[in-house]
Amino acid sequence: MIQITMPLNFLGTVYREIRQALVDMGSMFELLSQPAEVTDRPGAPDLRVSGGRVDFDRVEFGYEAARPILRGISFSVEPGQRVALVGPSGSGKSTIGRLLFRFYDVTGGAVRIDGQDLREVTQDSLHARIGVVPQDTVLFNDTILYNIAYGRPEASRAEIEAAAKAAKIHDFILSLPEGYETTVGERGLKLSGGEKQRVGIARTLLKNPPILLLDEATSALDTQTERDIQESLLAMGEGRSVITIAHRLSTIQDADKIIVLEAGRIVEEGTHERLLSLGGRYAALWARQSAEEEEEQEKAADPAA
Ligand code: ADP
Ligand code: MG
Repeated sequence: MIQITMPLNFLGTVYREIRQALVDMGSMFELLSQPAEVTDRPGAPDLRVSGGRVDFDRVEFGYEAARPILRGISFSVEPGQRVALVGPSGSGKSTIGRLLFRFYDVTGGAVRIDGQDLREVTQDSLHARIGVVPQDTVLFNDTILYNIAYGRPEASRAEIEAAAKAAKIHDFILSLPEGYETTVGERGLKLSGGEKQRVGIARTLLKNPPILLLDEATSALDTQTERDIQESLLAMGEGRSVITIAHRLSTIQDADKIIVLEAGRIVEEGTHERLLSLGGRYAALWARQSAEEEEEQEKAADPAA
């Protein structure tokens, strides 16, 4: 009996951990392919978030010792600020997100939240204070109620509905045959990309984290849905510190600060207007994306062309 239950319990634990990881991170960090390299320091206290200030202080990091990826990254997110990370593929944006979650420890410098070095606090408390809205929200084969409540299992029905309303998915849920009791996921009702993302937003709203990490969708969504979602994401950022990993510059124009990365270094930093007037890397990225988007729109308007 014991011989049978022990491995099963073990599998159950692993399964729960993997599931938790998937929900928290979505596809963003491809967690399953990543080693669990960091552990809590014995007796580490929980992270205490007051304002939600984030500091990257001369951060150095490489996945392998021989190949540095981040080379002295310093920036701050003031409480309640929205900061966007932009830059070419491979420049280190997602790596910054992973370090904020402490999936890895920095090899130089420090990452701090409200003055506390991430290496000095428990990972559970860190993960509880950072909300992630990944590009792809993972749904369980369970009710939509369960899927939203996953953000905070002890939440009341009223709180869950309030989160769904804020994520603009409440009316849609009520239109389903069994409302909040409708089973979704692979073996239930399949939701569209936009609907899934709204469930992810509702889940995160329910968790109510002071710090948000958004991995902007490269976009499986149509333009209108994308715009709607963008509005929900903006609303969600109110009163929180937000770091957005941006692929489309058009969605981050209003950020308090845009950080331009290139090969693991910050090459420019400022507001959209300031960076445009600088006429440097950001301005070039902007010009290229604007041209591409115009082209797309022309194609969409006249598919025969
Ligand atoms: P971005 O998000 O800006 O596209 P990333 O932070 O994902 O860039 O990657 C930065 C660099 O780190 C890239 O050269 C990438 O190949 C490398 N990298 C990313 N993840 C890993 C990993 N798990 N192991 C080794 N190298 C990695
Ligand atoms: Mg990335």
